[in-house]
Amino acid sequence: MNFHSMSPDQLREIADDLTKQYERLQAAGLKLDLTRGKPAPEQLDLSNDMLSLPGDDYRDSTGVDCRNYGGLTGLADLRTIFGELLGVAPANLLSLGNSSLEIMHDLTVFGLLHGTAGSSTTWAAQGPIKFLCPSPGYDRHFAITEAYGIEMIPVPMLPDGPDTEVCAELLAADPSIKGMWAVPTYSNPTGVTFSEETTRRLLEMPAADDFRIYWDNAYAVHTLVDAAPTPLPVLEMAARAGHPDRVYVLGSTSKITFAGAGVSFLGASQANLDWFSKHLSVTTIGPDKLNQLRHVKFFGDADGVRAHMARHRDILVPKFRAVLDILEARLAESKVASWTDPEGGYFISLDVIDGAAARTIELAKNAGIALTAYGSTFPYKRDPHDRNIRLAPTFPQIDELKVAMDGVATCVLLASTEVLLESH
Ligand code: PMP
Repeated sequence: MNFHSMSPDQLREIADDLTKQYERLQAAGLKLDLTRGKPAPEQLDLSNDMLSLPGDDYRDSTGVDCRNYGGLTGLADLRTIFGELLGVAPANLLSLGNSSLEIMHDLTVFGLLHGTAGSSTTWAAQGPIKFLCPSPGYDRHFAITEAYGIEMIPVPMLPDGPDTEVCAELLAADPSIKGMWAVPTYSNPTGVTFSEETTRRLLEMPAADDFRIYWDNAYAVHTLVDAAPTPLPVLEMAARAGHPDRVYVLGSTSKITFAGAGVSFLGASQANLDWFSKHLSVTTIGPDKLNQLRHVKFFGDADGVRAHMARHRDILVPKFRAVLDILEARLAESKVASWTDPEGGYFISLDVIDGAAARTIELAKNAGIALTAYGSTFPYKRDPHDRNIRLAPTFPQIDELKVAMDGVATCVLLASTEVLLESH
């Protein structure tokens, strides 16, 4: 029954029942973790053949000896495969180390200390600068901007991407906005994929010359349905919009092969790549080409990556289904929560009634179920409505996942009765 139409007495009765359920949950002594979007061991197993690659054949198809120093751009064969998957011409794509997050960090620090490509003033010298942060969003993005004192401005997420009207207004009014976080495909945590129209608007809208969109396409191929969306040729679109240097395209194989030992990518205009490579060359002579070669040999081509992602999908779909079924069965009727049914990516975003998220997370913690920390999906960990909880179904085994989610549902219901009773 809908909790919102219940009298205080009815709510108290339900709350008593839920408290008993909760006490049984606590007595079960669970130790379950739904916090981070890590691949499960059986997903990692899918790439085990890579462990014996490249074998004795340590040259790439152009004869480069991958054991040696050099080649700051990364292997051409790998850039061809992932260029197709990220919608970036191979000539505009660098293949780098094991973390795209590290590239995003370096792009930010280089902007602060050196200024962006073609700019005569560093970000740091322009006083306090700001980034637009579509929210809910990815906590580690927000951690980078917070660490360097860059002010974060939350922007609402709509079903087809960030609210472009809000972005346009903010950018027109404030030239100190220098960046924007964006996860264009199967966004973390909402699962939203940006539409072509939203993308075009983001690329066209007036902004400071040194404004950059971090187009973090971390989930470009991570589909839970038949096929991932065709990537938009965002660099070409940016050039057509008259802002060729506005976009940094990011990606990695962290959730394709091995999360700790993948390869990462940066796609950008030639001017941006020259700028980045110049500063990067101070920190490294070149990336781990043996790991890159391993990836080339393992996949062969872009279809090899797609076929591999279909195997991930077979493992992940039952887990997402299990979570969604439990949410539906336990929470739909009471109308105290809504959730996403994503077509890809790594998360389900759960919204509870305003004021109930922190309490739900606390109740779950005290019952041995770790949920992503309160507020994580917002800048400064401030969830303005205290309502968003990011669920990460990928890592646990399915039986554990079901137990954890059933427990989470009990916590949501109990927290909701508390909030509703307080407001009566
Ligand atoms: N971007 C997003 C949106 C992510 O969700 C993640 C991983 N959870 C990353 C980047 C991290 O990527 P990497 O392992 O390449 O640093």
